[in-house]
Amino acid sequence: MSAEPRTIFNESPATPQHAAGEPPCALAIESLTHRYTDAEVLRDLQLQLPAGEYACLLGDSGSGKSTLLQLIAGIERAQSGRIVIADRPVADPARDLHVAPERRGLGMVFQDQALWPHLTVQAHLEFPLRARRQAVDHQALAALLQRVGLSGLEHRRPGALSGGQRQRVGLARALAGNPRLLLLDEPLSAVDTAMRSELRTYLKRLFDELGFTALHVTHDPDEAFELGTRVGVLERGELVQWGTPQQLYRQPASLNVARLSGTCGVAEVECLEHHGTTAHVRWQGTVHEVPAHPDVRVGRAQLLLRPDALRPATNGLSARIAGARFQGDRWLAHVQIGESEPLPVHLAEIPTHPPTLRLDESAAWLLPIHE
Ligand code: ADP
Ligand code: MG
Repeated sequence: MSAEPRTIFNESPATPQHAAGEPPCALAIESLTHRYTDAEVLRDLQLQLPAGEYACLLGDSGSGKSTLLQLIAGIERAQSGRIVIADRPVADPARDLHVAPERRGLGMVFQDQALWPHLTVQAHLEFPLRARRQAVDHQALAALLQRVGLSGLEHRRPGALSGGQRQRVGLARALAGNPRLLLLDEPLSAVDTAMRSELRTYLKRLFDELGFTALHVTHDPDEAFELGTRVGVLERGELVQWGTPQQLYRQPASLNVARLSGTCGVAEVECLEHHGTTAHVRWQGTVHEVPAHPDVRVGRAQLLLRPDALRPATNGLSARIAGARFQGDRWLAHVQIGESEPLPVHLAEIPTHPPTLRLDESAAWLLPIHE
């Protein structure tokens, strides 16, 4: 628990400037590189977050997630690159521009909530408004408290609240001033599993009801893919992909992203030729045309197979079931074809005879092998 509660106050929302028909951009980051002493923590980071999206940035511990949020919030000073919030540059060291954190129009939620022990729930929500001399709209605050399930607890202090309730106070406080952008730093990692799932549901519902824009960082892939309308993957300070969950699932930038975004199998194949977005590969003695990553080259490559890429078919490849798990409405089986690694396949039933399968080329994805 930090000694000083950290709060970023919200500015009244400004009218965003954007071209007609284009969704306004809540956050744009250009060429952001950051060092602490000599270690590079963020490398040439670029991203754009359209207003109204809930973005989840996934990264292991130490990958630079908190540093990125602190740079966006202005708690950490940018060294190079540019940060634009709601079409307004807030950090541009080349022009010596550094807008103070409280003037960036943000709300922040932290892992440890950072609540003041002496303030009531109501006072926590009013604090950011009062600090900015903004009128307190009691009706709006009451509605917000009800939305986060804290009605009736207005006069409690943090010590008399459960962990989940405290986390919801942190969330309501961050939303109270109508932020242009909500930043959430691993908001669910300090609570137990049951509470985490409840809070996830709250976050999802609140987002659906209020339609704010959020950047939520986490190390939990399930959380990122459940909540994110857009998902990014940060690896050692590099943003390796930033796209819709479907893009990360169907066209992952790397094997690591593929594994984070869901079940997949890998087959080593020979790439015979490639044409930018597709490639011809030889797999199990047959040539297939499959969607391909732009970095694929002729030679060895890896073919990524999601569980829907192999389908039962007469005259298909004969497969041996190496294991299967019932998933309620179907089975997730792992099959071996020839000498292949076990490959995941969705099956309606476990057949009594070894199944025969064909490749649905459009559900495969070819990635380069980095030696
Ligand atoms: P994450 O939030 O993904 O765990 P951080 O942004 O906290 O990652 O940290 C990224 C790297 O930067 C880590 O190696 C961490 O030790 C280092 N780091 C973070 N904050 C500081 C700081 N204030 N001074 C020096 N190094 C730091
Ligand atoms: Mg962190």
